[in-house]
Amino acid sequence: MAESQIQSGRGGVGCGVDAFQRCIAAPCGATYDVGEVLVSCPRCGELLDVDYRWDRIPVPRSLKHFEEAWARRDDPHLFSGVWRFYALLPFAPREVCVTIGEGQTLLQRADSVGAFVGLKPGRLFLQYEGMNPSGSFKDNGMAAAFTHAHLVGATRAACASTGNTSASLALYCAVTRLMRAIIFVGSGKIAFGKLAQALDFGALTVQINGDFDDAMARVKEVSQQLGIYLVNSVNPFRLEGQKTIIYRVLEGLRWETPEWIVVPGGNLGNSSAFGKALYELYKLGLIQRMPRLAIINAVGANTLYQLVEQEGIRWHGGDLDRAKIRRFYERMEGEGCRANTIASAIEINRPVNLSKCLRALEVCRGVVREVTDQEILDAKAQVGMGGLGCEPASAASVAGAKRLVSEGIIGPDERVVCVLTGHQLKDPNATVAYHTTDQELFNRVLGSRGVRRAAFANRAVVVPNDIDEIVKAIQLYG
Ligand SMILES: *Cc1c(COP(=O)(O)O)cnc(C)c1O
Ligand SMILES: [Zn+2]
Repeated sequence: MAESQIQSGRGGVGCGVDAFQRCIAAPCGATYDVGEVLVSCPRCGELLDVDYRWDRIPVPRSLKHFEEAWARRDDPHLFSGVWRFYALLPFAPREVCVTIGEGQTLLQRADSVGAFVGLKPGRLFLQYEGMNPSGSFKDNGMAAAFTHAHLVGATRAACASTGNTSASLALYCAVTRLMRAIIFVGSGKIAFGKLAQALDFGALTVQINGDFDDAMARVKEVSQQLGIYLVNSVNPFRLEGQKTIIYRVLEGLRWETPEWIVVPGGNLGNSSAFGKALYELYKLGLIQRMPRLAIINAVGANTLYQLVEQEGIRWHGGDLDRAKIRRFYERMEGEGCRANTIASAIEINRPVNLSKCLRALEVCRGVVREVTDQEILDAKAQVGMGGLGCEPASAASVAGAKRLVSEGIIGPDERVVCVLTGHQLKDPNATVAYHTTDQELFNRVLGSRGVRRAAFANRAVVVPNDIDEIVKAIQLYG
């Protein structure tokens, strides 16, 4: 490590790094040491960023530099899709950075899905984050949050989760044995693939009678009371890890910037991290142009869509209309409105990163759209037929891109990256219900959510256990 970096440390666990935490609110902007464990600004309650003294950090002059790291991937920190970009998130000394091999993900050209979306060949790319060790993009963030937790000496880490954060935390705890995982889930609100992971990996699983928003409120209280480290995306260090998804997208395009990046919006951690990553690269002169960001809500969990596209809420340099947002939530509460969508990973009414996400929308000239569960499942079937497969929430990005093309906001010639956030096998119930011949199953799982048809269903052919009938069926359908 360079001498200047060592000298800049101000004592405590942050010693030796040129990073600090900063409140994102415009009038406040208070700063805190990286060694402090905070999920909001003690002075004003807003979210915190991890920020860097960039002038003291040896940032490469070109993103191409990172290709060298990949050539030395026998080093676990250079194998990691998060830590091989260490120079862009150096909040902890390199040697304490925790990795379990996250971020080995692909940017894949997807022409058949592109045709469905309405794009010309070679214009749609899918960033498949389902290849992460726990099967979702959450591992990128967990590598970073877990590193911070380890840095401050935590022995227990907790999260509220619609499933993937808990699967990820449980995995990091199981592999590293550094901490005990405590996860909070809403009753009946978690896809079985995800619950199976948390249970298998040995996490202490607390099931709350309520939904994600209830579990989130409780885990904040409990972690405060018991001094447990919180790894939800209110944790600013988690979002540092999720910045690397953007770096890998750019890497997949040989460091060219696409016109659009499309991502599902739940708690809005990913979209916030993407905006931060891109803005930092731009300020550092490592990209010359900002791509536009499209954030896609499900109709049944469309807080961001309503606030931005209907209520006109904007970041306004950090001076956002908090009173209007508060009134919006009060109205939602008053009407007993609960999030409801087949895309359980984005089934969230009170996105914890709302203000950061508004900032990302501003710097990326972003748009927000909502898509129905019908559109989500049809898009998911197309992703599957294209050979990748994803969980319902992930397909919201593809459904949203399709919508934006049909509105003429995205041009058919523009380069679009849709982020597939989670693996196909996370939620097999939704997939099987879509393709089923069993009308009762379809109605129970999907019909109750307003899904009427399965335009791209690949239905099993039901045949008697008889060789002639089987031969006949194959000749008829094959
Ligand atoms: C967590 C998650 C999301 C939502 O991401 P946010 O950062 O909370 O907006 C979307 N898809 C999948 C598969 C997820 O696990
Ligand atoms: Zn503050």
